[in-house]
Amino acid sequence: RAYFDWNATAPLRAVARDAMVEALAEGGNASSVHAEGRAARGRLEKARAQVAALVGADAKSVIFTSGATEANALALTPALEAGGRKAPRDRLFVSAVEHPSVLAGGRFAPEQIDTLPVDANGLVDLDALTAMLAKAERPLVSVLLANNETGVIQPIRVIADIVHAANGLLHVDAVQGAGRIPCDMAALGADLLSLSSHKLGGPQGAGALVRRSDIHMADPLIRGGGQERGYRAGTENVPALAGFGAAAEAARTAREGDSVRMAALRDRLEDGITAATPEAVIFGAAAPRLPNTSLVAVPGLKAETALIAFDLKGIALSSGSACSSGKVQASHVLAAMGVEPALASGALRISLGWETAETDVEKLLTAWNTVVSTLLKRQPNIAA
Ligand code: PMP
Repeated sequence: RAYFDWNATAPLRAVARDAMVEALAEGGNASSVHAEGRAARGRLEKARAQVAALVGADAKSVIFTSGATEANALALTPALEAGGRKAPRDRLFVSAVEHPSVLAGGRFAPEQIDTLPVDANGLVDLDALTAMLAKAERPLVSVLLANNETGVIQPIRVIADIVHAANGLLHVDAVQGAGRIPCDMAALGADLLSLSSHKLGGPQGAGALVRRSDIHMADPLIRGGGQERGYRAGTENVPALAGFGAAAEAARTAREGDSVRMAALRDRLEDGITAATPEAVIFGAAAPRLPNTSLVAVPGLKAETALIAFDLKGIALSSGSACSSGKVQASHVLAAMGVEPALASGALRISLGWETAETDVEKLLTAWNTVVSTLLKRQPNIAA
């Protein structure tokens, strides 16, 4: 099989599996004082340092969660403190191309949330951002580093400067960017940053919210035993977090080489697709993009039908976003970019990873010719 759905989830890295197996075998509660507990604590704190290193942060700034969805929910609260003082947020601004877990707005009421428009390439409209922030006294802004559907990379540093000049704080969902492009929290200017283990080759169900050291969320989602500095009560999932840490370290050390290799394969794929189907549209192609992601549509081709045809040929692709439990829904990302619904419904997401090989790309290109020509022939009225 050729797997091209790395933005949905990546295969577990061997180093992550090894770290998990060891933590499962050794056991121990990280809060216990005895040797077994201290060993579990050691594994947990090692993972925290590994995750922190991926984003150039202090280990103390890492709050482990069940994933990026929970990290986003924890970050998006009016009850923020900064520099040791209460700094409640009066409005939340989210870009129109955020993941649903950010669009949901955390603990902000719907009437406190504004959506930031994007241009035809999916980039946040910076003039609109500046104008809209004037409406709030202490805004919280959430913009993702790179989009999960298109791979388009936002100018986070520029956005951070605009937000900070408006007395605002910036949360960055870095799930798809981390491990693929530079993701240093201070260089980005992010005050809060979300990560997900399973996009980096760690297990599913683990993630982190990384905070600037002086930022504090006064209303944690889960209260109880005080784990994770009181931000998230409950016995830590040491095996999953050990796997997350190992994956984060591997992603950090392999990033530069992997990115160059993936970009070359992605370019070869896009060249092959546009040569075979010149009418194909590659979304966001005029903006900076991740090295691993292509979102492509061919007028007249339905994504669901194409996905099944590719699947039968041993190729795993995705239609737009796979984050909605198998539901086929029009992409809010493409809608925000002004893409016609008919074209958007044909969008196929091809995402690569560190194990993608040239033979996978050739397999997809060979299948592309037959699948696309067969399906377009079956829908002549639409294709015409
Ligand atoms: N944000 C983005 C941009 C994502 O792509 C995803 C995963 N689809 C998430 C958040 C949610 O991450 P998790 O699966 O860890 O909850």
